[in-house]
Amino acid sequence: MNKFDTNKLKKIAVFTSGGDAPGMNAAIRATVRMAIYKNLEVFGIYQGYQGMLDNQIEPLNLGSMANVIQRGGTVLKAGRCQNFLKPEFRKIAAQNLKVQGIDGLICIGGDGSFRGAKALWDEHQIPIVGVPGTIDNDINGSEYTIGFDTAVNTAMEAIDKIRDTAASHDRLFIVEVMGRNTGYIAIEVGLAGGAEEVIFPENPFNLEKVINKIQHGIDRGKKSSILVTAEGDKPGYAYDLAEQLKQKANFDAKVCILGHVQRGGSPTALDRMIASRLAAQAVLSLLDGNCNHMIALQGTSYVNVSFDEAIQKKPFTYKGLLDLVDILSQ
Ligand code: ADP
Repeated sequence: MNKFDTNKLKKIAVFTSGGDAPGMNAAIRATVRMAIYKNLEVFGIYQGYQGMLDNQIEPLNLGSMANVIQRGGTVLKAGRCQNFLKPEFRKIAAQNLKVQGIDGLICIGGDGSFRGAKALWDEHQIPIVGVPGTIDNDINGSEYTIGFDTAVNTAMEAIDKIRDTAASHDRLFIVEVMGRNTGYIAIEVGLAGGAEEVIFPENPFNLEKVINKIQHGIDRGKKSSILVTAEGDKPGYAYDLAEQLKQKANFDAKVCILGHVQRGGSPTALDRMIASRLAAQAVLSLLDGNCNHMIALQGTSYVNVSFDEAIQKKPFTYKGLLDLVDILSQ
């Protein structure tokens, strides 16, 4: 975390970057309204870092944020910008911000977006505070990220529906959820949805164990089972697993890949509340002269965590939940 001189701080801008997540609109709204409450002018940058390069920068006011808190996605648009990986393009972005008189930024996004934010501070001393927004919950230093709770609830509701048909037809289902290289969505959905087994990148996969678990269920009269897998770095992996189960144990598994439905929809109350609090705190922290950090949720506290720490790999701390899935689904 760094300090900067807040004397000049009159205009700030907010942007969303990387993948969209339900609750980002609540975070934009909280940024805009807290900034105006604190007598700052506030701008929206559209399309993330691409908009910074293309000058897609518009003033926002109290009315711009009417009726957005309940909407999924992001009204500022999100997205990826390959050029921003290059210093010469970051220089253009910094110049554009300077011309507009913008001297502080709130970045709502994931670890990639924070890498870009850190580079803007390191190279051009543009003060930025981050707000962790990604359905994957994979930001180091924060227990929750915006969108995670909605994604978990969406996937859980889907599993509840699949369970109805699984039970009616005595079927084995493999449900693949999102989560990139982490199993946070998978493990919470697995526990909340009553899955027999949860398979994800941090949980080394053991085919024998999965087969024994399913067989044990069949032996005690269980008619249907649900396995939850995380997409990992290979979406569609659930089909490989179904194939392996067929070859090794002659189990017929149906596959359901939930995909992008988990990114959409109206955010849950928890996501709206966390988003509002993280973003409001981000504006206050910027006004205190803090930058090059994100606001993180730790326990019930909203704390500052440097971008350096936020971009490290998040250690997986859900071992206890995994054991519980096993015990409760025996
Ligand atoms: P997320 O923020 O959800 O992790 P990405 O990893 O796609 O999403 O990052 C979003 C954007 O942040 C990228 O398209 C790029 O513009 C910028 N970015 C990512 N990594 C870096 C980096 N190392 N240096 C500068 N900008 C980066």
